[in-house]
Amino acid sequence: MSIKDNLLKIKSSLPENVTLVAVSKTKPVSDLMEAYEAGQRIFGENKIQEMTEKHQQMPKDIQWHMIGHVQSNKVKYMISYVKLIHGVDSLKLLKEINRQAIRWRKNVDCLLQIHIAEEETKFGLDENELSDIINSDEFKSFKNIKVVGLMGMATFTDNQEQIKKEFTVLKSIFDKYKPTETSNFKLETLSMGMSGDYQLAIDCGSTMVRIGSSIFGNR
Ligand SMILES: *Cc1c(COP(=O)(O)O)cnc(C)c1O
Repeated sequence: MSIKDNLLKIKSSLPENVTLVAVSKTKPVSDLMEAYEAGQRIFGENKIQEMTEKHQQMPKDIQWHMIGHVQSNKVKYMISYVKLIHGVDSLKLLKEINRQAIRWRKNVDCLLQIHIAEEETKFGLDENELSDIINSDEFKSFKNIKVVGLMGMATFTDNQEQIKKEFTVLKSIFDKYKPTETSNFKLETLSMGMSGDYQLAIDCGSTMVRIGSSIFGNR
């Protein structure tokens, strides 16, 4: 099947309230353009340099999402155009995003990444760290960022029960903090689900799925 066929098939299967991020990392611009021509406008990349190069070459109505781990010293390269940063997992990083956003006189939307997987290697905050961040005076002082949701990645496993358990944990944290609403914190987006587990993620309450290989093929 073509990229267009894959994309349209997935799109037609998603509930109306679920946003599709087409994860295009490692893929050439020509592949992304195929998805663009088929109507896709939200693309996710996990490396800032690669995303910036693609941003420069592609139509300007594309919304670029940074879905990978972000190093503070690289925030400046994407701040002018990035639409949503999914993988924010420290106060230090929020501080730098806020600092760069001030320089550009803009507001930048972020998701806080929560660690839900068993693997030690996956980035993210635990619930206490999340609570510490959003209750800190420093966070409250950040006027040019807005935390609009949470993001998580389940363990890489075939065990559906385990994945479901992890997504359910994330959803419950999301629901717990949803009533908390301040000038720079308002949970609306729950980013969970990839090619292998997005249907399960949607069943568990996801509002944003990040799908790569099922659209563009294996990397
Ligand atoms: C690569 C990646 C995806 C997409 O993975 P697929 O299995 O190809 O759909 C989703 N989220 C993150 C954070 C990724 O790095």
